[in-house]
Amino acid sequence: MEGIATKPSSSNAGNIHRGKWVGRDTAFTIAESGSRQNAAALPPDSALCPRCEADLFDPRSRRYFYPFTSCTGCGPRFTMARQQPYDRSATAMVSFPMCPACREEYENPVDRRFHAQPTACPACGPAVSLVDGAGRPLAPSGRTEGCDPFARAPWLEKAWHLLREGAILAIKSLGGFHLACDGTSAAAIEKLRRRKGRPCKPLAVMCRDRSVVEKYCLLSEAEHRLLASPAAPIVLLRRRRHCPLPETLAPNLNLLGVMLPYTPLHRLLLHGPLELLVMTSGNLSGLPLITDNEEALNELKGIADCFLLHDREIVHRCDDSVAAVVDGETHIYRRSRGYVPLAVAATSPAGECFTVKRGSAPCAVRSAAPGSPIVLGSGAEMKNTFCLLKGGEAILSQHLGAIDNEESLNCYRQSLDGLQQLLGLRPEIIGYDLHPHYLVSRAARELPGIHVGVQHHHAHLASCLAENGYTGKAVGIILDGSGYGSDGNLWVFEILRGDCCSYTRRFHLAYMPLPGGEKAVRSPWVMAVSCLLWFCGEAGGRRARRIFPEKRAQVDLLERLIGKKTLTLPLACGCGRLFDAISALLGVCLENSYEGQAAIELSERLPAAAASSRGGAYSFTIRGQVIEPAEMFAGILGDLEEGLPPKKIVLKFHNTVAAMAVEAACLAAREEGLRTIALSGGCWQNRYLFTTVKRELQKRGFAVLYHRLVPANDGGLALGQAVVARNLGVRA
Ligand code: ZN
Ligand code: ZN
Ligand code: FE
Repeated sequence: MEGIATKPSSSNAGNIHRGKWVGRDTAFTIAESGSRQNAAALPPDSALCPRCEADLFDPRSRRYFYPFTSCTGCGPRFTMARQQPYDRSATAMVSFPMCPACREEYENPVDRRFHAQPTACPACGPAVSLVDGAGRPLAPSGRTEGCDPFARAPWLEKAWHLLREGAILAIKSLGGFHLACDGTSAAAIEKLRRRKGRPCKPLAVMCRDRSVVEKYCLLSEAEHRLLASPAAPIVLLRRRRHCPLPETLAPNLNLLGVMLPYTPLHRLLLHGPLELLVMTSGNLSGLPLITDNEEALNELKGIADCFLLHDREIVHRCDDSVAAVVDGETHIYRRSRGYVPLAVAATSPAGECFTVKRGSAPCAVRSAAPGSPIVLGSGAEMKNTFCLLKGGEAILSQHLGAIDNEESLNCYRQSLDGLQQLLGLRPEIIGYDLHPHYLVSRAARELPGIHVGVQHHHAHLASCLAENGYTGKAVGIILDGSGYGSDGNLWVFEILRGDCCSYTRRFHLAYMPLPGGEKAVRSPWVMAVSCLLWFCGEAGGRRARRIFPEKRAQVDLLERLIGKKTLTLPLACGCGRLFDAISALLGVCLENSYEGQAAIELSERLPAAAASSRGGAYSFTIRGQVIEPAEMFAGILGDLEEGLPPKKIVLKFHNTVAAMAVEAACLAAREEGLRTIALSGGCWQNRYLFTTVKRELQKRGFAVLYHRLVPANDGGLALGQAVVARNLGVRA
């Protein structure tokens, strides 16, 4: 169809999160090709829709047991698009010329597959191959005729058999490879963890359907809607009390990451004897998600026993998204497959506000003032995403993860080029994080354009304001892992006051030494000892030796370093580090084997029904700009001495952090009569802390802004960078 491009209507985008698939009635408007390219023209990938699922199991259907069935309401989009306009010839489907039957459907305006770019059938479309580690076929690829499902998909029974035997299967999915194994088998999970070198990090599971999810987890209606939405993210759910699944899926955690099958291939895999599979990203630790068959066979051969491949190319790698329902609302923690490249609204440079529909989907927004510059926010080093901002539309990239080595930096550059090309956007202004060692900041400064350094926490604040369409001044409570401060120290627990142009640092948690610099992040027990020495002096040292008797020598060394208070150690005022210290002090987690482990495991120790701030808190002092936690440490040591159960100490600690945030923010707001407070930074993923602070501030009459569509963690940082850089860059 020369000269014709298909374009979803905005109602399509708007429906994405309400668990509806938009069928042929409303999904499409035909726009002229060559019209201005915009992000809205390219939809995100969408999970298998109910009608295609019905086709999959209908023996009369041409697509009976065909793992690549799709329609205008579902299937790959972003992950297979090469360029715009979004047309079959510009996607990975170009290698699969349609058979006459498929073409007829494609050209029939009343057919469900009218202009469905990924449409295919067994006669003309992609095919699956099941191979061993050497690439040798383990089953035939399939024949196209007949009513016997296993003649149509002969690889399927073999794959079931292998998984049941405890094999680890590398599966080429929608946006990259997964490593899968039987989620009910402790032995298979142990093998996967050992081979992947991932001792504790929680593994996500894919469940056959709602009834399987409910067998193992508590599921609210809102959580079910999110799980079953076309974006089909991993949803964090609470395990049932006597959940029979292996503990090792998510050691020491009550939460489990759960998703439903979102491609026909996944649905078939879960059709047989297996009701639940572990599905974790198919990559080597620290490296980007693998998308290519050859690469998978080479790189994953030490991990996977066999490979379920297919021949449709993955053009844009895209990890699974992660979300949760908190206090009745969806919060996205990792925004990737199913959401990218939908635009989120952002405020325009003129200060005009584009409304975001509350509680609804990321929406395509009208574009802003003509001539407003195109801006790039280059993102953070961890949980990286970048952001392309044009007028009132902010397009956040897929989750690219940690960019801390050459391979991931190359992947970052590729993704940046890819998305720029796809959207036809060349940034003129580039916002980057001030951290001197961030590889992405270095890469950003090498790009042509006006460069604007944006302080990490200011970017968090601006990200939250922009997401909420708020253009005024607000107080920001930024609780984070760590970020480079304008004084060269690591900032983490910050009360800022500002807007999308500028900020002042109003209060912060007292600095504490970070022995070993940012590496201390890996050793919560080092943070615990440092805090005791730093805040409680010699008495702290004595207690540290009693609490960590096996680490006496190291405590001595730390005491010599810290006791002198020579201040040669790097300093941090850490929320993340504070959680680490308390976690180690209570014996919950001494070493982090994945980012945030100690803090996450600590918050899991909260009493189940702790949704109020009852349970007491420790004292603290606000002196000048500084929130001093010394009394809290003394209080915790006292409670430990008296044998107070750790659960109660954890609760009091959380209440103390909440009180610190609330009191300091209220002071900062009162000074200028502000009534709006924004919450940003990764620590807000702590549900107890979030709900406690939100409710307390609302009770005191403040408007509370927080993240829902854009991650509160560093995954949302790029939006704030872009918004600030535009404001400053335009003025420059
Ligand atoms: Zn469909
Ligand atoms: Zn066909
Ligand atoms: Fe951050």
